[in-house]
Amino acid sequence: MDAEQLREYGHQMVDFIADYYKNIENFPVLSQVQPGYLRQLLPDSAPTHPESLQDVLDDVQAKILPGVTHWQSPEFFAYFPSNSSVAGFLGEMLSASINMVGFSWISSPAATELEMIVLDWLAKALKLPDEFLSTGQGGGVIQGTASEAVLVVLLAARDKVLRRVGKDAIGKLVAYISDQTHSSLQKACKIGGIHPENIRVLKTNSSTQFALSPEPLSEAISQDIASGLIPFFLCATVGTTSSTAVDPLFALGKISKSNGVWFHVDAAYAGSACICPEFRHYIDGVEEADSFNMNAHKWFLTNFDCSALWVKDRSALIQSLSTNPEYLKNKASQENLVVDYKDWQIPLGRRFRSLKLWMVLRLYGLEKLQAYIRNHIELATKFEELVRLDSRFEVAAARKFSLVCFYLLPPKSNEEIGDKLNHDLLDAVNSTGKLFISHTVLSNRYVLRFAVGAPLTEERHVLAAWETLQEKASDLLMNL
Ligand code: PLP
Repeated sequence: MDAEQLREYGHQMVDFIADYYKNIENFPVLSQVQPGYLRQLLPDSAPTHPESLQDVLDDVQAKILPGVTHWQSPEFFAYFPSNSSVAGFLGEMLSASINMVGFSWISSPAATELEMIVLDWLAKALKLPDEFLSTGQGGGVIQGTASEAVLVVLLAARDKVLRRVGKDAIGKLVAYISDQTHSSLQKACKIGGIHPENIRVLKTNSSTQFALSPEPLSEAISQDIASGLIPFFLCATVGTTSSTAVDPLFALGKISKSNGVWFHVDAAYAGSACICPEFRHYIDGVEEADSFNMNAHKWFLTNFDCSALWVKDRSALIQSLSTNPEYLKNKASQENLVVDYKDWQIPLGRRFRSLKLWMVLRLYGLEKLQAYIRNHIELATKFEELVRLDSRFEVAAARKFSLVCFYLLPPKSNEEIGDKLNHDLLDAVNSTGKLFISHTVLSNRYVLRFAVGAPLTEERHVLAAWETLQEKASDLLMNL
């Protein structure tokens, strides 16, 4: 590592990146390349001799950026966002510079201690119950993704029950989710050895706004117990991926508790909104939860990856995931004086991710972060109003946060083409490169998703996106 070379190249790179952000609207937001495009543009093998940074950057400009879907574009409305910010970016830079591997406290004490402190800060900003703070029996940990977060708590829950009933009972364990729960739950069950037939996917419908009702959960648990099975895990969601439905945490949590079921709350996307007093009620009932997750890397200006997970009983995680190899033994760990985050996650190695979250919290402050969230919700409300004003469209699910699900109505005489019509509209607008939206299926209908959440999005982008949608809808309806 040559510090002077880093200074020179670093400046060059920062200029390149700043120009990228400045010109980001000039790119088609959804990459328009065909599969395999890059192999034709790059050599078959690595260079034998060093190349210049400028040559590499030229290739990035000419060959890589055309194959990038620009998540930071203000015209990105497809999936839940993956925010970047100056603070998050600088935190990433610093983390890359220090480049330590913080598996245990001793491997870099500041990394562990900052993570504990910053997650306590965030827990307080969300008004999570004190049991989730690191000062008691619980605490927070940064995972790479919400998928990893739910996997580790599912393993902790599984092992907690198995310690009581015996390992051989694994085939009897039952997990409860809804048909709107994120697919990462199914994957976690697969990895956790939960029998596929023991995953109860409880049905939701439009009358409950796609939220999970307590009654079917209660019934399913009673039936399973009567059949000799062992309910062990429930995942509720605040802000489901398809339509941002909010499950009733308090009622679900009570049922979990009375049946000895671990209650996890997945607020991967919508958790960020709950730092605003007016949206905090969406996580009312979180006091019943055993674990809670929100992705700071989605809608909280913290560059990917940074998924915050809190548990009330850290010992459950540690009992499930700890290892104690000779080569990692050290006085602080042996004497139980410290947190060793390797025992709260799947991998051993871990990055200094708390730096970027710390920088985001400090450089913006909670007030600015709240204003940021509110602005996106206002923009989504504006889009929803526009949809409602055009009688050719319908809002397909109640909007709660910054996602609007909508549907282009087919002519009354030809209702069966509704799905195809919306699919064609999606393709038509996405191929313009002027905006990028996605879709889902709600009540057996193919509906479109417009998710506001990119940091650079302003009202003019939302209005322009709506104009393109209307234009393409007119073309499609005219050509029917
Ligand atoms: N949970 C919800 C509600 C989500 O919307 C998502 C992703 O969008 C996830 C979990 C998975 O997130 P990750 O990519 O961090 O695993």
